[in-house]
Amino acid sequence: MMQFNINPNERNYETDYDVIIIGAGAAGYSAGIYIKRSGLSVAILEKEAVPGGNTAVSPLVENYLGYKAMVGADLAQDFQKHYEEYGKIITEIEVRDIKKDGNKFKIITDKSEFTARAIIVTTGTSHRKMNVKGEDEYYGKGISYCSTCDGYLFKGKNVAVIGGGNSGAISALYLDNIVNSVSIIAHSKIKKCEEAYIEAIDQKKIPFILNAETMEFTGNGKSLTGLKYRDLTTKEEKSLNLEGVFVYIGVIPQTEFLKNIGVKLDSHGFIVADEKGRTNISGIYGAGDVLAGSEEQIATAVGDGSRAAITLYTDLINKKF
Ligand code: FAD
Repeated sequence: MMQFNINPNERNYETDYDVIIIGAGAAGYSAGIYIKRSGLSVAILEKEAVPGGNTAVSPLVENYLGYKAMVGADLAQDFQKHYEEYGKIITEIEVRDIKKDGNKFKIITDKSEFTARAIIVTTGTSHRKMNVKGEDEYYGKGISYCSTCDGYLFKGKNVAVIGGGNSGAISALYLDNIVNSVSIIAHSKIKKCEEAYIEAIDQKKIPFILNAETMEFTGNGKSLTGLKYRDLTTKEEKSLNLEGVFVYIGVIPQTEFLKNIGVKLDSHGFIVADEKGRTNISGIYGAGDVLAGSEEQIATAVGDGSRAAITLYTDLINKKF
């Protein structure tokens, strides 16, 4: 096995790897398989107890090659099982910082430190908050950011999804099978999700309220009872009685820990990388939804992960770092 010419006796196999991958989602698993099959040692560090990233919370995936329709959590488990044939995942460990340490990187987590010659960042995105009145107060008391995780709690109830993109549309279609009623509230003037989802939403007669700005979540102190929104066409203020709201209004890249080492980020915090996944810091690569310009799909995350891993290996044998 290629070990960057490190004497095996000097290596701590628990904390020292050729490559550390940060984030156990589609991109991380894919990168991990390629890295290990290149003959390098690898571990994935994952902050959550249950790995799988956003694939694991996708209610139903219908556009990943080879799987006609698959519950996201099952697909994520298939990815995990495949990766674990090769490498290790260390869960419940959050990367907080990266420092250069000679010809290696020191990866600082909330629990311990790791070292690696190279890093692939596949930390994806987290949900964006609305930042409107009542959001913090009723989070967990009617407001949720994950229909797969919390949808069942709203069985037989009246709910709304805020956000008319693909994630919002998929979530509304999923919730429609559980709840009494679901509607979609979108800020945009047009339906921004894929045509296939629009057709399914129309078929199920799910109301799609467009050009609407959510202003406030209302409640009785204990739980959510509704929301107020402004109809941006008529400028009228309207309200809806609801027991649940699922927010899907966009994402935030998980890149805070890259700031000290100086990885170039765009104005929203996404990693700026070349077409092969190389960042501006030699030896650090990026893949998946965390990249600026990502298509935010499982298929593209898998592709990005394999590309970054192949590039890393090629750069290594060409002694680029
Ligand atoms: P992620 O899946 O986000 O994985 C990143 C991982 O990194 C996470 O596990 C996270 O916990 C971990 N992490 C983050 N920061 C740290 C840190 N500091 N230390 C350690 N670990 C960290 N795509 C499709 O193709 N088809 C669909 O039908 C589909 N439906 C979707 C439905 C919903 C509701 C959502 C939210 C997304 C959906 N997507 C779908 C998008 C798809 O899930 C993502 O594009 C894909 O999961 C991105 O993979 P990734 O590996 O780049 O990132």
